[in-house]
Amino acid sequence: MSPKYVYFFGNGSAEGRADMKHLLGGKGANLAEMTNLGIPVPPGFTITTEVCDAYYKNNQQYPKGLSEEIEQNLSRLEKLMGAKLGDPDNPLLVSVRSGAAASMPGMMDTVLNLGLTPDAVNRLMKKTGNERFVWDAYRRFITMFGDVVMGVERHSFEEILDKYKKKAQVKSDTELTTDQLKKIVEEFKAVYKKKTRENFPNDPKVQLKKAIDAVFASWNNPRAVKYRQLYEIKGLLGTAVNVQAMVFGNMGNHSATGVCFTRNPSTGENKFYGEFLINAQGEDVVAGIRTPEPIANLEKEMPEVYKQLVKYKNILENHFKDVQDIEFTIQENRLFMLQTRTGKRTTQAAVKIAVDMVKEGLIDKKTAISRINPNELDQLLHPTFDPKAKKEIIAAGLPASPGAATGKVVFSAEDAEKWTLEKKEKVILVRKETSPEDIGGMHVAKGILTTRGGMTSHAAVVARGMGKCCVAGCGSLHVDYKTQTFKVDGKIIKRGDYISIDGSTGEVMLGMVPTVEPGLSGDFATLMEWADDVRKLKIRTNADTPTDAKKARELGAEGIGLCRTEHMFFGENRIDSVRQMILSAPDVKNLKIKITALEKELAKATNNKTDAIKKELMQVKKELKEPLNLYTSALKKLLPMQRRDFEQIFTTMDGLPVTIRFLDPPLHEFLPQEEYNQKEMARQMKISLKEVQEKVSALHELNPMLGHRGCRLGITYPEIYDMQVQAIIEAACNVKKKGIAVYPEIMLPIISTEQEFNLLKDNVHRIAKNVMEKKGMQIEYMVGTMIELPRAALIADKIAKHAEFFSFGTNDLTQMTFGFSRDDVGSFVPDYIEKGILEKDPFQILDQEGTGQLVEIGIKKGRSTRPELKVGICGEHGGNPQTILFCHKVGMNYVSCSPFRVPIARLAAAQASLQQPVSQATV
Ligand code: ADP
Ligand code: MG
Ligand code: MG
Repeated sequence: MSPKYVYFFGNGSAEGRADMKHLLGGKGANLAEMTNLGIPVPPGFTITTEVCDAYYKNNQQYPKGLSEEIEQNLSRLEKLMGAKLGDPDNPLLVSVRSGAAASMPGMMDTVLNLGLTPDAVNRLMKKTGNERFVWDAYRRFITMFGDVVMGVERHSFEEILDKYKKKAQVKSDTELTTDQLKKIVEEFKAVYKKKTRENFPNDPKVQLKKAIDAVFASWNNPRAVKYRQLYEIKGLLGTAVNVQAMVFGNMGNHSATGVCFTRNPSTGENKFYGEFLINAQGEDVVAGIRTPEPIANLEKEMPEVYKQLVKYKNILENHFKDVQDIEFTIQENRLFMLQTRTGKRTTQAAVKIAVDMVKEGLIDKKTAISRINPNELDQLLHPTFDPKAKKEIIAAGLPASPGAATGKVVFSAEDAEKWTLEKKEKVILVRKETSPEDIGGMHVAKGILTTRGGMTSHAAVVARGMGKCCVAGCGSLHVDYKTQTFKVDGKIIKRGDYISIDGSTGEVMLGMVPTVEPGLSGDFATLMEWADDVRKLKIRTNADTPTDAKKARELGAEGIGLCRTEHMFFGENRIDSVRQMILSAPDVKNLKIKITALEKELAKATNNKTDAIKKELMQVKKELKEPLNLYTSALKKLLPMQRRDFEQIFTTMDGLPVTIRFLDPPLHEFLPQEEYNQKEMARQMKISLKEVQEKVSALHELNPMLGHRGCRLGITYPEIYDMQVQAIIEAACNVKKKGIAVYPEIMLPIISTEQEFNLLKDNVHRIAKNVMEKKGMQIEYMVGTMIELPRAALIADKIAKHAEFFSFGTNDLTQMTFGFSRDDVGSFVPDYIEKGILEKDPFQILDQEGTGQLVEIGIKKGRSTRPELKVGICGEHGGNPQTILFCHKVGMNYVSCSPFRVPIARLAAAQASLQQPVSQATV
């Protein structure tokens, strides 16, 4: 038996169903479903997507038996309608409509009023007594057939229509008379002939065949192919073709066509929403030919029809249990439904609708949770540009940190601070890239725009941490610091000019674009509570300041998963002390080594040598005095500052765990690179500028990311980590005294060997014990590590002997696994994606195939020696829903992400639980 290629619908029953979208396309499947529901749908039939597939696979030939099947279904339709395609006495008109399983608006097309010929026109005029309608239908048919089937530009027809409207001095095509329409049809046919070198076909069977061909051919037109690429629509067989008896909304003032939503798709309000046009056809409503009327007016104009429409839209929403986007036509007071599909909606509406529908008993909580795309929640958490505002977009970069910012352009952190603090201006900081030295300026700026760097560049990471709007890697901008301008597309923007940037889209706009403030609505909170009930993963936050911590807690964070101590070092006047510490540390270390060596030598020396050694020893000890003094005084200054930071953070996170990472970045990031900063350091340290510069260059590294950083600093300069332990434990004691529940988790970064961890951990315990004894208190704390080097993942069983928790630092782990510098990926990763080598930027979405393996190995090995090992993730990936699903599957305990992504993570974690119940996950 050959497969069935055509599915009939009509007269209250259909061969298809809503769940056959893959085969019948969305439109066809739902036309069938509506028919089965007893809703008035003009009858017709659907040619399946398999035919489209076969057509392309078989050299644009239709499968055998198809034309017979179409014939049979056409006869069935003709019988039902009591009219025949091409019958001069009783002509049937049909529409030929495209429709794939996924909606692709505007990509493929539809022909209405097919079957019209001069004979049919005459007959229909007599039958309906409505000449004007018939000619209106005819001119529409020629336009659509010319455009969709023969590729004659719509424009060529519209020109003629406009000419007539002008001549008749009317605005709307409904005001054209029958005679004018007749002449227009003649001219349309002439244009058709001129452009196609053929007469307009007068055989309806030929019209139908060509229209079906055209719809199938449209599946692979460049526009449609591009669209599917863009929206990542994959795995479809093709488009279906729907042939359907026409109903007419253009028969006069008791006819109309319209589009409606069962609820407001913009606010989510449960109120019927839509528009219609009297005496119109097809997409006149959408095309904006005349201004349509709001659906409420239909109640006054056609109360009976309105009542029916409300009844059917309710049936449809109840049946599909979701908002429906419906197309309908009224032919002389009779209502017909022509399409229904799931309505697209804003995030705000989506949340409200989901919550409302649960309350109405239409869906359950799980369905509500799975209906919202977690990433979209972003839009509810940041101010956004007013969608109604006019925008002049001049460039687009990476949407690095969401938000909408407007301000005056400045090109340095210094200006940013000056302008905001002194002049009270709002500024956008525009840089080629940012560095830690720019933190102050970034902090006060409304938004940050860079021309280089990717989604995990310094600017992007810091901005996200701050919840600040950032567009990164906007390569089409040419920044010139010298002239304090940037150039784009021939335009020159000067310092002080207004621009606006959209961190959710990456758009850069000229001037001030007005924004609207977000509100954490009650529905949003309700949805979050439901998500919390089903998720297994805990959600923590990456927060370095009490402000961030507070924000995150408000958004539902259950602890801090990453508190980066170095970011605290940039605050207020601390940077100077940090610089002093770093610049003096190497001298202290080297001189101490020398002293130890000399002392050893002295112990072994013979009499005649002791004096010389003693003398040298004294000399070295004297030399040590100055740097040691600088070093210890810097540490002493930093200690109370760090302690205060921790006290505040512990207080904010009362009752919740706080993971604190010790100093991590390469030291040079803190060094004074600009001469004015170097001069300042020379003054403070009472040394010469040259000496400062020598110290800076001595600390220079060729590959700082692989250099002296992370725990390696703690190994060479133990006093720095010691100071940090002291600050943490003292702070913990101080707040505990006030009744605050405090759970510090001390995290050692960049561990690659068991010995490293062991040595540093012993040091932590030694200092902590010391502090606790002095304070006469006991603090519950843990010492664990970041797993961010492949080696650490591979020997995780050994590290877990000593480490009480693991946190996967997937930024570095990705960098080290791929060997991609995360600060330079902007220059090649886009090409990798374009060429299909990589599907996604691995710094945004965890590469599960490679890096993910290391994560799995790390967890398995770690838990093999310490089954209760607590495991989390604190890289940028922690806020990415796809990665969160992975974290859930591999049995992590928590994910940690920037404060503004906490709600996203809560929802994504809930969806992960729904998708894979924990019993099945590899815990
Ligand atoms: P799209 O996929 O672009 O929405 P459709 O196939 O839905 O295209 O057709 C566009 C419009 O044409 C419909 O909204 C409807 O108003 C009109 N239309 C389609 N088929 C018919 C028909 N059989 N009778 C009357 N109008 C129709
Ligand atoms: Mg269309
Ligand atoms: Mg439609």
